[in-house]
Amino acid sequence: MSARILVVDDVDVNVRLLEAKLTIEYYDVLTCNDGLSALAIAAEHQPDLILLDVMMPGMDGFETCRRLKAQAETRHIPVVLVTALDGREDRIKGLEAGADDFLTKPIDDVILFARVKSLTRLKHVMDELREREESGRRLGVDSDNAARLRSEGGRVLIVDDDQRQAEKIAQELGGEHRVTIETDPEAALVAAKGALDLIIVNVAAASFDGLRIVAQAKSGDARRAPILAIVEPTERPRMIKALELGAADILPRPVDTEELSARVRTQIRRKRYTDFLRQKLDSSMEMAVTDALTGLHNRRYMTGQLQALVGRAAQGGAQVAVLVLDIDHFKSVNDSFGHDAGDEVLVEFAVRLATNVRAVDLPCRMGGEEFVVVMPGASLEDAGRVAERIRRDVASAPFRVMGGKEQITITISIGVAATTGDGDTPEGLLKRADEGVYEAKAAGRNRVIAKAA
Ligand code: GH3
Ligand code: MG
Ligand code: MG
Repeated sequence: MSARILVVDDVDVNVRLLEAKLTIEYYDVLTCNDGLSALAIAAEHQPDLILLDVMMPGMDGFETCRRLKAQAETRHIPVVLVTALDGREDRIKGLEAGADDFLTKPIDDVILFARVKSLTRLKHVMDELREREESGRRLGVDSDNAARLRSEGGRVLIVDDDQRQAEKIAQELGGEHRVTIETDPEAALVAAKGALDLIIVNVAAASFDGLRIVAQAKSGDARRAPILAIVEPTERPRMIKALELGAADILPRPVDTEELSARVRTQIRRKRYTDFLRQKLDSSMEMAVTDALTGLHNRRYMTGQLQALVGRAAQGGAQVAVLVLDIDHFKSVNDSFGHDAGDEVLVEFAVRLATNVRAVDLPCRMGGEEFVVVMPGASLEDAGRVAERIRRDVASAPFRVMGGKEQITITISIGVAATTGDGDTPEGLLKRADEGVYEAKAAGRNRVIAKAA
């Protein structure tokens, strides 16, 4: 997928030059000459990356960057500030303004494309996470909260055989982060298995190959931790290789501690943002298959599983049985003790249900006071025996609710059905089990009726 890049510079020649370079590499390029237009275009066209000149009349690059990062519609777009060659102050100011990276003029093509590729790749990952999160259940993800994720307290590992340099870095970062130093590469890879927010690797180390460490860290347990590579500025091929191997950022020797701090902060904030999205995604995916009240599987999950199992049974696979369970006179529980007590009964019932089935069985809440257990590999007789055990366990001891204040005797009616190996469908199976429930209710409740086909 081709990325869309917005180039902002007040000098038109600069704009045309970058536009030409990027277009040749098949990027889709948008351009403008001032900060205000940049804000408008970014919001409307949602580029994947913004190359932003620092020195512009009116609103300069810093202010433009700050505003881009303050707006919900644009804050996720990576910004690369384009600064003068000796613009060390500018670089730090830029990172502080929320810029994701910078390039110095005149722009080095190799570095330009390495940066563009790495940032657009990162953005695509983030976009996908955001999209999946949004298409899942909306859990009120507050993107403002996400943006305010702290950048302090990061767990940082320094892999460097230059003790003095490592200690200087550790000292600089120690005030804000939890830092460990590893001078031995083997030990470093073990240490990298822990939970880390950033790994700083000296790619110019004398006693080990830092590029190897970068590659190994990127393919191992620590692959989610960004890597900041310390490079010798004269060793251009190694610098480029570090980026190609997946280093998130590079820092030239001798290490400028202020720039280091700012870059570390940026990397950690970005890492936490992806962690945050990933965690939101995991929990929203769990919500999508779990019943919120009881923690059992929900109807949607059950339907998918049953479909697959019945399909397999129909093709000569293992038999599958289902139980449909319905609480007797549940309405009167609500009427006598209140809806909250009713909820407590449902939760306690779910516990008794889950503890009386096998590990491979899927206990689910269909909705209301109706439950289903899907039993892979079970015959009608097997399932009937389990159903009887559940029925007895429920009826034999009253349910304690409202902090033990009330004890309610609960009974259930259960219908049982199993595949026959002949034209089974999930709907047909559930319908037969439902008929079992209906007959159990009609026959006086608190009983199990197995329905042979
Ligand atoms: P039967 O023995 O014929 O099954 O009678 P019943 O009262 O259990 O069945 P009915 O379908 O008439 O009523 C079910 C009740 O379950 C009505 C509804 O208010 C209640 N209910 C459904 N979902 C929930 C819930 O999540 N929490 C609580 N507390 N009650 C619920
Ligand atoms: Mg300018
Ligand atoms: Mg009922």
